[in-house]
Amino acid sequence: MIFTGTSVCGGTAVAPALLYAPAELAVRRERLSTADVSAELERYEQAVAQAGRELEELRARFAGEHEAQGKIFDAHREILEDEEIVAAIRLAISEEKKCCAWAVESVCQMYAGLFEQLEDPLLRERSADVRDVGGRLLRACLGAAQVSLARLPRPCILVAHDLLPSDTAALDRENVLGIVTEVGGATCHSAIIARSYDIPAVLGVAHITERIRDGEELVLDADQGQVISSPTPAQRESFQRLREEGLVRRAQAAQWRDRPCRSRDGVEIAVGLNVADPTPGELEALGSAADFIGLFRTEFLYMGRDRLPTEEEQFQRYKALLLRAGDKPVTLRTLDIGADKPLSCYPRPREENPALGLRGLRLCLADRELFRAQLRAALRASVYGRLQIMFPMVGGVEDFMAARSVVEEVEEELRRERVSFREGLPLGAMIEVPSAALMAGALAARADFASIGTNDLSQYLLAADRTNPEVAPCCQSFHPAVFRLIQLAVSAFSDAGKPISVCGELGGEPLSTAVLVGLGIRKLSMSLSRISGVKMLLARHSVPELEALAEQVCASSTAEEVSACLRGRIT
Ligand code: PEP
Ligand code: MG
Repeated sequence: MIFTGTSVCGGTAVAPALLYAPAELAVRRERLSTADVSAELERYEQAVAQAGRELEELRARFAGEHEAQGKIFDAHREILEDEEIVAAIRLAISEEKKCCAWAVESVCQMYAGLFEQLEDPLLRERSADVRDVGGRLLRACLGAAQVSLARLPRPCILVAHDLLPSDTAALDRENVLGIVTEVGGATCHSAIIARSYDIPAVLGVAHITERIRDGEELVLDADQGQVISSPTPAQRESFQRLREEGLVRRAQAAQWRDRPCRSRDGVEIAVGLNVADPTPGELEALGSAADFIGLFRTEFLYMGRDRLPTEEEQFQRYKALLLRAGDKPVTLRTLDIGADKPLSCYPRPREENPALGLRGLRLCLADRELFRAQLRAALRASVYGRLQIMFPMVGGVEDFMAARSVVEEVEEELRRERVSFREGLPLGAMIEVPSAALMAGALAARADFASIGTNDLSQYLLAADRTNPEVAPCCQSFHPAVFRLIQLAVSAFSDAGKPISVCGELGGEPLSTAVLVGLGIRKLSMSLSRISGVKMLLARHSVPELEALAEQVCASSTAEEVSACLRGRIT
């Protein structure tokens, strides 16, 4: 069976599943007699002391090399010792006559609930930490053994409904070859820690814990956001081969990460980063491995929550990123939801054909309030850095001009309100709908820049759903038709003297970047893990060589011919 989810850290793994489900702790809910109160208060003190020792031990394990993870335990310590929480628990024992475990459970639940309702998404995530500390304290109160992922007997792929921050931070990194969870997105602790440990991870895989058995063999392809359970021998073998080749390649390529990206004959290629909720690693790479953020997918801010983010919340997030990026340009892509990217906080009527329905820019143009809130936040944040705004799923000139006029209305409104923003912000179009690629000349006359989204461009050009594994063989991004269409867009923008880049997966796949550079692309944007491989490959080839290759690719008849040509000419 094949499952899909959100890839939060690339890589591959093959191993048995470890189905992780922490046991529910039974809490007695009986009132104490007055005589028992002091014993329960004493029991609480002991539980705090034990939890404190555990946290100290975990903290020590992460000192030095993994300071960021270690800080999670500092934060847990603060929660454990938080005066307000401690007083509330003591009060629940002495006044409400709850036993220590019941008091801990109810107070921690109450505080976690309060955090959950806060506006700021970062503060909202603290609720997971409060639950985590509450669980630790509860175990200590009840004398229950700690279910630990810190020392596992054998290599595995960890599968869970959700993971607590301390589960992931204390993970046995030798033996956990991959992480799969049913919930969680790019902003959660599990995702951040998986990335910082470089453990391949796919989150948001619906119902996987019900559909696989503990110990069942899994193939995890986190690059594609896929998990295969009980793979066939052929699937397993091809996977192992890919994995081994990948490991060798990654080790060689790592040395290229922070070098400039140049072809063998010295032509510079600008390399940018694709980010959602940027990790410390990604931010640190800005200025060394990458020169700009070429695709800031803003959907993450709207995902996994029960209400839309406010303008202020978005403003704070955009401002923080721009300040962090300094003089490096950041291309913010406006909300791209619908079809394969539904939002729980924005339910929509069912559509017969959602991939061709109200999605991306169309949806924003249909719901002006949603769109305007994001644009106001982005424009207000624009004074803090080098922001560019880009619209997804532009169908052609009408869409782009409609989006531009909403930006102009918002600018006018901000001027009236005397709110500052950067005048003349570059506005760009994503080229990912075939009609936009065919009309690139007209778009180039109106847009300040473009970026090619090869994931959707391939899906729409080849009429093959990019999320449906059954038609995966038809969704061939190496199809010559895809490269021909890219060629049209590149020529149109280059003739108009306007920048054009590639930010879809083809822009981070080393083999295809060779063709893209041959087609005239001088700007690529990709996920951090792709940068080294692309730089290493491009350094081995000269531009005239890549131009000849691109010509041959565009003259090919099938995707297979393209792959054969690339294998033959690219080393
Ligand atoms: C694309 O379609 O190529 C793209 C970059 O956007 P997304 O993958 O977010 O749809
Ligand atoms: Mg897209």
